[in-house]
Amino acid sequence: MQTDSTVIIVGAGPAGLGCALALRACGVTDVSILDAQGVGTSFERWPAQMRLLTPSFHSNSFGFTDLNAISPDTSPADFLHTQHPTGKQYAHYLKAVVYHYQLFVESGVRVKTVERDSHQFFVITTQDGLTRRARFVIWATGEFGQPKTNGIRGAYLGIHNSTVRDWDDFKSGPNKMTIIGGYESGIDAVINLVTQGKEVHLLSRGQPWANDDPDPSRSLSPHTHDRLKTALLETFGSIQFYQNADINRIRKVGDDYEIISTEGTCFHSPTAPILCTGFESALQSIQSLWEWRDGYPIFSEEADESTRTPGLFYSGPSLQHRGMQFCFIYKYRSRFGIIARAIASRLGLPWKEPLSLWRKHGFFQEDLNCCSDCQCAIDHEETENPEVHDYEKAVLS
Ligand SMILES: Cc1cc2nc3c(=O)[nH]c(=O)nc-3n(C[C@H](O)[C@H](O)[C@H](O)COP(=O)(O)OP(=O)(O)OC[C@H]3O[C@@H](n4cnc5c(N)ncnc54)[C@H](O)[C@@H]3O)c2cc1C
Repeated sequence: MQTDSTVIIVGAGPAGLGCALALRACGVTDVSILDAQGVGTSFERWPAQMRLLTPSFHSNSFGFTDLNAISPDTSPADFLHTQHPTGKQYAHYLKAVVYHYQLFVESGVRVKTVERDSHQFFVITTQDGLTRRARFVIWATGEFGQPKTNGIRGAYLGIHNSTVRDWDDFKSGPNKMTIIGGYESGIDAVINLVTQGKEVHLLSRGQPWANDDPDPSRSLSPHTHDRLKTALLETFGSIQFYQNADINRIRKVGDDYEIISTEGTCFHSPTAPILCTGFESALQSIQSLWEWRDGYPIFSEEADESTRTPGLFYSGPSLQHRGMQFCFIYKYRSRFGIIARAIASRLGLPWKEPLSLWRKHGFFQEDLNCCSDCQCAIDHEETENPEVHDYEKAVLS
């Protein structure tokens, strides 16, 4: 069986749904949203304790749309009455958006391949062997399903944090735990485990917990800093930070795990290490449809479109322009209107007036200088990072 649509969106997370709403504003309604599982599934799989680190606040009416909203006229803060929603709460917000706007999402449809036929239509094959055709495709599959293990030999012996559903599941295990990776997910794991009374060893390439980069994609969020400070105060001495521990091997020796760095340092752990090593690009499974440079896909600046396969767009956290990552909702949503404009204008539909609200509220960001010139006015005096052994002192002072 073959079904035709004007636009197929693959993925019903915030990126796919946000693009669907921007297209709707332009009158593009023949849109099919396909999801391997269902609306907001990635968020539903977060550990129970994990919360969005970007804060929500219902400031929309003053022109400052809630940072976690996927459209200019909705607010997770207003809907959920919380500042840092859990994954389940945020999925609830996404489902409410789908219901309110009557978006049509087909759940349980996993896309296996995307190809172009001789008429320049996209032919999408799903896991059950069915095909669908569309004139445009927006790929919005997110990164959560593609854990990255950074070339660590024996990574299968560890536990990637994306597979943890509840940190309480570790309560009854040995007291010492080891985390590999010191960015947001790593620090989140540390805080959850240390507040259970564990002794936590954090191994990291650099010391991202002490970075002072003006781009929040490269340094810890204020929310995480606050939580870490509280954890350090309440559990003094229970977190050991190891910087420059570039781990490339995990071995099981008897009941113990050996975690070995490129420099040959061996760390011992009685428990499987938790890998907080990030995620692969969302474009891995359709990589041949994109041009790549230095391991990163290239997106057109006009429309976040593939430069190799016109008509194929990407929305979501793997987006990057001019070396800047658009990995937060408030960053990649700034391009929803841009993608909608490209599709609407090619269909001969008006987009300027329909997208004026999206432009006004930061969902139509054309000027990429705004994002690539992300300098805060005030440099932190101590841009020099504190030494690791001083970290607790530095962060608590
Ligand atoms: C641990 C973690 C914490 C984060 N915290 C924040 C935060 O606090 N604030 C913030 O702004 N961002 C945060 N992010 C960034 C986050 O990735 C995005 O905000 C968001 O999840 C990405 O949205 P998405 O719609 O691109 O992907 P997802 O929400 O992952 O949705 C993608 C959907 O695509 C579906 N899918 C995947 N493959 C296929 C396929 N082949 N066929 C059909 N369907 C498919 C999946 O089932 C899924 O429902 C975090 C990310 C992670 C991993």
